[in-house]
Amino acid sequence: MRPEILFPLFKPVTALKGVGPRLGQLIERLAGKYLVDLCWHLPTGLIDRRFRPTVAAAPDGAVATLTVTVDEHIPSANRRLPYKVLCSDDTGTVSLVFFNAKADYLEKMLPLGATRVVSGQIGHYGAEIQMPHPDHIVAPDKADELPTVEATYPLTTGLTSKPLHRAVRGALDQTPELAEWQNVPWLEKQAWPSWRAALFAAHEPESQAALEPDDPARRRLAYDELLANQLALAMIRNAARRRAGRAIVGDGRLRAALSKALPYELTEGQRDVLHEIQADMAQPQRMLRLLQGDVGSGKTVVALTAMLAAVESGAQAAFMVPTEILARQHLETLTNLCRDLPLRIQILTGRTKGRPRLALLGDLAEGRIDILIGTHALFTEDVIFKDLALTVIDEQHRFGVHQRLNLGDKGIAADILVMTATPIPRTLSLTVYGDMDISLLHGKPPGRQPVDTRSMPLSRLDQVVAGVQRAVNGGARAFWVCPLVEENEQLDLAAAEERHGTLARIFGHDQVGLVHGRMKAKEKDQAMAAFVAGETKILVATTVIEVGVDVPEASIMAVEHAERFGLAQLHQLRGRVGRGGQQAHCLLLYAEPLGETARARIAIMRETEDGFRIAEEDLRLRGTGELLGTRQSGFPAFRLADPLAHQDLMEVARDDARLILETDPDLEGPRGPALRALLYLFERDAAVKLLRSG
Ligand code: ADP
Ligand code: MG
Repeated sequence: MRPEILFPLFKPVTALKGVGPRLGQLIERLAGKYLVDLCWHLPTGLIDRRFRPTVAAAPDGAVATLTVTVDEHIPSANRRLPYKVLCSDDTGTVSLVFFNAKADYLEKMLPLGATRVVSGQIGHYGAEIQMPHPDHIVAPDKADELPTVEATYPLTTGLTSKPLHRAVRGALDQTPELAEWQNVPWLEKQAWPSWRAALFAAHEPESQAALEPDDPARRRLAYDELLANQLALAMIRNAARRRAGRAIVGDGRLRAALSKALPYELTEGQRDVLHEIQADMAQPQRMLRLLQGDVGSGKTVVALTAMLAAVESGAQAAFMVPTEILARQHLETLTNLCRDLPLRIQILTGRTKGRPRLALLGDLAEGRIDILIGTHALFTEDVIFKDLALTVIDEQHRFGVHQRLNLGDKGIAADILVMTATPIPRTLSLTVYGDMDISLLHGKPPGRQPVDTRSMPLSRLDQVVAGVQRAVNGGARAFWVCPLVEENEQLDLAAAEERHGTLARIFGHDQVGLVHGRMKAKEKDQAMAAFVAGETKILVATTVIEVGVDVPEASIMAVEHAERFGLAQLHQLRGRVGRGGQQAHCLLLYAEPLGETARARIAIMRETEDGFRIAEEDLRLRGTGELLGTRQSGFPAFRLADPLAHQDLMEVARDDARLILETDPDLEGPRGPALRALLYLFERDAAVKLLRSG
């Protein structure tokens, strides 16, 4: 249960005075539902009102505070013209300009002949000096009530700064003093303020420097958030480990048979990671391991080998993937490689329904299936294994964190191997996995030539089509990926269908296939199968082929509107080719004019195929926030911490979290209550529930 002291912070924003349903909705969209979300909504700029020039010296565009005498009111002649109030000092005249003004209000605020202090932005229009809609108008004896420096916040359409300011104020006023959760010597060494003081300081910047990520108040808040994140991850991991695992060894017979059946030798990298994985599985604790290997590095066979170890020991394995296409493909690959092995492999997806599904569930529960491949459908409650010992999760970045944890419950003590091709920079992997063990799969199977990557404007489409035509005539196969239109599936679809139409007219209808997310599963399979078999030579696709698809014979990847894709995505797409022995080509077609970021992305793609380098560059180009497509990738979105600027703090938070749990695994010691409050403050409630006395 959330501690009572935090209750005020988790009231809805509409609980604030002056925030009705309409304003509440805007604030919710901008910052979040609760008062605490307003606290995390930090200013991004400031207005300095200390600049007090004379009227004549007030520069165009500057924010200035002027002391003037009211000379004349000029009401608007019609609704479209502004109401003007002319004011002056010894040096000149300034027009205060109001649209849709109420005359009586202005007459009260700015009586003729009175002196007023006005503050706002200056505009020069020819010889006229204007101040449109002053932010503040006060009498001289109230001048010291003017804020000297005002924070400015990110806004959203329909929400102006004044009501937001008031709401943030209101939220801050509700913040309680909380017991210190940070390690006090560390805190003192950093010379950081207390949590509440830091929050106020962050909302009341005195200077530009206070808006920077290295400001002490901001660093303190960032650290709090990172600590909550690391602590929660470490607790989840502890809880998983606490359940007794089992030692999975196996007698090696299936693995030996596989190794005989494989048409190639494992690479050194594959052998290394298998060594780590198998050693970990042989431990009595539960395995929680991330296997990172670039696109095409050969993770599938590593997973298969690990699963065989589980089967040898008399148990079952699950292989989970994000898409139906990938599930089918893995079924095919695994079935092929294990043709002569005594092994029962099955598939379960959303399409498995009715009686076949019931039969499959029966087989699974009675142990007549050794390896079950599937999509999200594996999560369904009635999917019960007889004895699940290992769960492999492929292309993890497509799944959320919660789903990953759920599957662990299917096998009471099942080991978990998470695989990803999206190379995650170290700092980020910490935020997602905390201290999860990591195996890095280095290198690629031999014989791969670098992909020849070129970029060209879409205006040269004809040339590109002609080039692809030559290659296809020479026996090549090509993927043709269509633009991503603002994540709008309907539009993606239209673009893909249109391109399919034009290419089909050029190449012949039986030569060009089409796959997209909205197609019936059966049609999707057929289109994929026809391309794999070489019946169609060109496969037009939306990004459904982005992850995992393996067609070694394909050697051309054309991407339309490459400027709309992220770096990680482009890297994934390019990874679809260059898997066979032949020279592969990647054509990045872009619309002009090319923006700066898009230009940089394409340049990096041409420069390197190193996934880690690409991931780091991606992080740098995107800056903070929407890393690797934050939401869908299951990355936590940080409100206060900046994964780049606060990189150093991330490591400290991880060590701190580890130390805390080593000495006080259930947070029952002196720092315990404060740390629990921290977890609730950052909405890591799920982690608290894992504590013995959660
Ligand atoms: P990813 O790591 O992207 O999942 P895959 O497992 O799909 O990569 O493997 C990519 C391709 O490399 C597949 O066609 C696979 O058969 C092949 N492959 C994997 N390991 C080796 C190896 N040791 N030698 C040669 N080819 C390999
Ligand atoms: Mg793969």
